[in-house]
Amino acid sequence: MADSLNPTFRSDTGPAATPRYVYRFGGGVSDGGDTGHGGDKNLLGGKGANLDGMASIGLPVPPGFTISTAMCTRYYEEGQAFPDSLRAEVAKGIAHIEGITGKAFGDVANPLLVSVRSGARVSMPGMMDTVLNLGLNDATVEGLARVSGDQRFAWDSYRRFVQMYADVVLELDHGAFEEALEIAKEDKGAQLDTDLSADDLKALVATYKRLVQEEWGRPFPQDVHDQLWGAVGAVFGSWQSERAKVYRRLNDIPANWGTAVNVQAMVFGNMGDTSATGVAFTRDPAKGDRAYYGEFLINAQGEDVVAGIRTPQYLTKVARETAGAKAASMEEAMPEVYGQLAKVFDLLETHYRDMQDIEFTVERGQLWMLQTRSGKRTAKAALKIAVDMAEEGLISQEEAVARVDPSALDQLLHPTLDPAAPRDVLTKGLPASPGAASGAAVFDAETAQAWAERGEAVILVRVETSPEDIHGMHAARGILTARGGMTSHAAVVARGMGRPCVSGAGALTIDARQRRMRIGTREIDEGETITIDGATGEVMAGEVATVQPELSGDFGTLMVWADKVRRLRVRTNAETPADCRVARDFGAEGIGLCRTEHMFFDAARITAVRQMILAEDERGRRVALDRLLPEQRADFAEIFTIMAGLPCTIRLLDPPLHEFLPHEEEEFAEVARAAGVGVETLKRRAAELHEFNPMLGHRGCRLGVTYPEIYEMQARAIFEAAVDVAEKTGAAPIPEVMVPLVGTRRELELMKVVIDQAAEAVFAEKGRRIDYLVGTMIELPRAALRAADIAHDAAFFSFGTNDLTQTTLGVSRDDAARFLGVYVDQGIYAKDPFVSLDVEGVGELIRIAAERGRSTRADIKLGICGEHGGDPASIAFCEEVALDYVSASPYRIPAARLAAAQASLVRAAQRSIST
Ligand code: ADP
Ligand code: MG
Ligand code: MG
Repeated sequence: MADSLNPTFRSDTGPAATPRYVYRFGGGVSDGGDTGHGGDKNLLGGKGANLDGMASIGLPVPPGFTISTAMCTRYYEEGQAFPDSLRAEVAKGIAHIEGITGKAFGDVANPLLVSVRSGARVSMPGMMDTVLNLGLNDATVEGLARVSGDQRFAWDSYRRFVQMYADVVLELDHGAFEEALEIAKEDKGAQLDTDLSADDLKALVATYKRLVQEEWGRPFPQDVHDQLWGAVGAVFGSWQSERAKVYRRLNDIPANWGTAVNVQAMVFGNMGDTSATGVAFTRDPAKGDRAYYGEFLINAQGEDVVAGIRTPQYLTKVARETAGAKAASMEEAMPEVYGQLAKVFDLLETHYRDMQDIEFTVERGQLWMLQTRSGKRTAKAALKIAVDMAEEGLISQEEAVARVDPSALDQLLHPTLDPAAPRDVLTKGLPASPGAASGAAVFDAETAQAWAERGEAVILVRVETSPEDIHGMHAARGILTARGGMTSHAAVVARGMGRPCVSGAGALTIDARQRRMRIGTREIDEGETITIDGATGEVMAGEVATVQPELSGDFGTLMVWADKVRRLRVRTNAETPADCRVARDFGAEGIGLCRTEHMFFDAARITAVRQMILAEDERGRRVALDRLLPEQRADFAEIFTIMAGLPCTIRLLDPPLHEFLPHEEEEFAEVARAAGVGVETLKRRAAELHEFNPMLGHRGCRLGVTYPEIYEMQARAIFEAAVDVAEKTGAAPIPEVMVPLVGTRRELELMKVVIDQAAEAVFAEKGRRIDYLVGTMIELPRAALRAADIAHDAAFFSFGTNDLTQTTLGVSRDDAARFLGVYVDQGIYAKDPFVSLDVEGVGELIRIAAERGRSTRADIKLGICGEHGGDPASIAFCEEVALDYVSASPYRIPAARLAAAQASLVRAAQRSIST
């Protein structure tokens, strides 16, 4: 970094080559041209844009200037050199600060000190840390002491500056500096930095300067302009630091965005007991309550609050009392400034129309604003703040709908432990991420992933987690660590992923080699079930029953607003009465996919199912089907009753028959008894059913074409149940009978005859008709391409995007895990195509099928029923191609409703731009 003190300047090549790079703010100036929504973040970076924004609305912002992100881009384009013109621009910026403060940069009599701060468009770890108190040297420190009348303050500022500059700009090992400070404190028997006297600090500065000379080989820079250019160069240099590059790659931030540099007059929170520094949120970022929230420290500077050097005090009296803390809150200690601050909070919320996260400093009773940005918040707070702000009239209902991340809603729907369920508590850690989870204990990320891939619920247990564990954390239902606090890697990552997490359970000893953990005398081996409660920090042996969360009124309110703007209908994928009930509670408007084969696995029926499959002929099959008919009818009747009056898409039998085959000797014997044939005959039949590639084998409508009596029975069960329920409840369900895996028009034509005949027969027997539809799933590329043909017999298409993705990509979902990670890393697939729709490929087929289907039948009903029906990005695509509905699993219904509403809003905005 040695070269940063001698930056290269190149002469500009003409007037056109000297655009403006420096934008001033403060003291009534706001060059950034704040438009009322926080200036231009692209040009000034987030921090710079908001400093300019605060200045533009007359808030007390220490004057300063921003060197734009465009300079950063140019700096790298020109081989890390500055244009000559920048010198003059920066000089003007400094003059602006001098004019307002009445101080001069490098002036011994009344020295101006500045901070140099990086600021990209989005807050970005890896960028250079802030340097405070720049402009101090052996001469100006004396000046500062005289002007402030405080020797101790001046020398404390100087020693902080040398330490920060050495660390951040010169990149010297900071350990030696910290050690020197510790030694100085020990020598004095001092507990805190504030216990050191001016003389102690003077001696410490001398030590620091010696350390710089030793480690850097040059004396600490005394020229304030060298100091400034060194820091500016270091900010731009940090844009290409390894850490910044890694962060950009992980977060898809383009390298050409660049960072801005903010140079700003220092204000001092460390000038005695009428000075302070603090951080605050305009609302509670955890719960969302409309209460100021924050911490401050008297007689402290900059990051002392977050650095944990001293325990900060609460902002408000209520917060102090609630926490039972003694030290006065800011409201009590500095009532006047606190009053000003509260007014600023309100002004900022009105200006930015969002909850703000703020940094401020009080210098001898005068309040200064140093930063504001939209505050990060939990899912719960996001929901509450959005609804509250709309009700306060600060934002519209549509904006509230647009602001809540659908996947955050998912988090709120997490089940919690049933308070009545018995629990065997092993130990308690920190409640690091909400929700409860049970699963097999596993002790490394690889095992977590492997077990999860074969469908097991696992809890990943680690001493502490690191970035190498991410895939395991993703695969796990929950995470438990022995070490680490509420902001440990495990806690932060788990919250981000929406996984429950208990961290820092100190009583745990983990023996990863033996694959076991110990808590006191209890031992848990790999594979044993444990339960964690991320809300209380409890760790329990075995599985504990969970209950559905109570959803707050805000949730309901936001859903009502979402439904007002939503065009897409939202249905559910469900086949059990329990799932149907949950889905209706969450607002499902029908069933988009009821898979009938799940009903076949029931212990009471499986023998009849096997008998049907293994029958030698139609007669044998019919005997078994007659046994299944009443069972299926009862299933449908229950579902139709719950889904009263709503459309229910029921898919006829789809999977390859071998999935139902008996395996055990006993099972064969049972089927043989029921069918009245020999076990050997059955085994031979079973062997005949073997398929090399069952996914592409005798399944879907191919079953119905070869054994029409199966579909006939299912259709009969559906219509009998529908008529019965209509009769009994008065609310007639609308069955939509769906034929799977159709590839040609003829297949559907044949199956439609079977279904229609069953319907007519039932209606004649019962003397009552009901409305119903026959349609097909589109899950083969051929079906999508021949959609115009197929639509002659289909009243609806439902895009079965799980299979459609498999058949379009030629990738088996069950076998993709081995290469999918690499494919996503290499950018071959943007995302896992089974989670988020491959819009380019599969999406194009959907687009074609929708268009061609509509060309034959203008009112054809179109929906999607794959996993994608609950994925916000895929839902946006469904809106784009104007499907009628999406269908998602019950717990994803609220997120789907919200995502559908957001998709409608985006479409409406696009339309208003194009007209
Ligand atoms: P970060 O992005 O890490 O928050 P900042 O640039 O906001 O970095 O600065 C770090 C700390 O220094 C903050 O506490 C901030 O309030 C303080 N600080 C920055 N500039 C000044 C200044 N001009 N006067 C006083 N304190 C400052
Ligand atoms: Mg920082
Ligand atoms: Mg900051």
